[in-house]
Amino acid sequence: ALLDKFEKYDLLFGPSPISKFENLAKELGGKVNIYAKREDRNSGLAFAGNKLRKFEYIVPEIIAGDYTHIVSIGGIQSNQTLMTIATACKLGLKAVTVQENWVPIPEAEKATYDKVGNIEAARILGGDVRLVPDGFDIGMRKSFEEALQELTSQGFKPYPVPAGCSEHKYGGLGFVGFADELIKQEKEMGIKFDKIVVCCVTGSTAAGIFVGMAQYGRENDVIAIDASGKPEKTFEQTLRIINHTSEILGLGKKFDTFNFDTRFGGPVYGIPNEGTIEAIKLLGKTEGTLTDPVYEGKSMQGLIELVKEDKFEKDSNVLFVHLGGASSLSAYQSYFS
Ligand code: PLP
Repeated sequence: ALLDKFEKYDLLFGPSPISKFENLAKELGGKVNIYAKREDRNSGLAFAGNKLRKFEYIVPEIIAGDYTHIVSIGGIQSNQTLMTIATACKLGLKAVTVQENWVPIPEAEKATYDKVGNIEAARILGGDVRLVPDGFDIGMRKSFEEALQELTSQGFKPYPVPAGCSEHKYGGLGFVGFADELIKQEKEMGIKFDKIVVCCVTGSTAAGIFVGMAQYGRENDVIAIDASGKPEKTFEQTLRIINHTSEILGLGKKFDTFNFDTRFGGPVYGIPNEGTIEAIKLLGKTEGTLTDPVYEGKSMQGLIELVKEDKFEKDSNVLFVHLGGASSLSAYQSYFS
């Protein structure tokens, strides 16, 4: 595989499992087969999830460079920052996480939003969590630069990891590996996944899968579902990561678009719409599987809607990529009470 030339540090249990969502498929009229690849169960670190595959190709540089801290950034209930802390724990390093106010926190959650869920877990793991009032942006931030400068001036050697690991030079590689793994699992299972539905915000997850599948001429099977509520920016960043990842892999292809459904990201990043909550409840009730209101609830909403709209061929195999994140649910209790 093209990926073999890059160094990897194992953080996952092994290949992530694939489960079949038969009850959900039946509930939606039995038109397609629905499967899920369980990145939410890919590792024993914290609550697992998509960040660990990305870190597997970033960690070798952190170890080789003798860094003392990993510094990253996200929203208050960020999965990225929690998994940065968990990775640092595993490596015996320290983590500093800048957690900005990316979400217009609902009144009913204000008293607990910055204390429960991923923040609680981050504190248990001994993270140096820095809550800052700045608003939502997936790019590089001032507060992040300041944290790096502060550590450097104290004589430490901090390693910066951008939001979602996405604008990191190797940020897309982990999910190229996901595609290679999926192709192997298809062979073992004697099945072909016709469409792959994946949530997209900072972009490197969908970009990695897209480039990974492009190795097999199957990039058009990937459908990215926006959960950023700022789809132009997410599209542009994801496409940039696609082309960068393709280039460093040596794929020899350039791309000018990818399948991107922008209908489910609203009202804004971090806040579910009515269909998001319905999707979370439907998946929960039929399969006993949890998804969150920020990411996977929106991509599950997208999958459900696409089935209802007959956008998938009859009897085709649709793969939902479950990227984790249910650990933020307690910060959204008012939607389910
Ligand atoms: N799903 C979950 C649970 C996440 O934590 C993230 C992170 O942003 C995403 C989906 C989106 O992935 P990406 O930022 O790589 O587009």
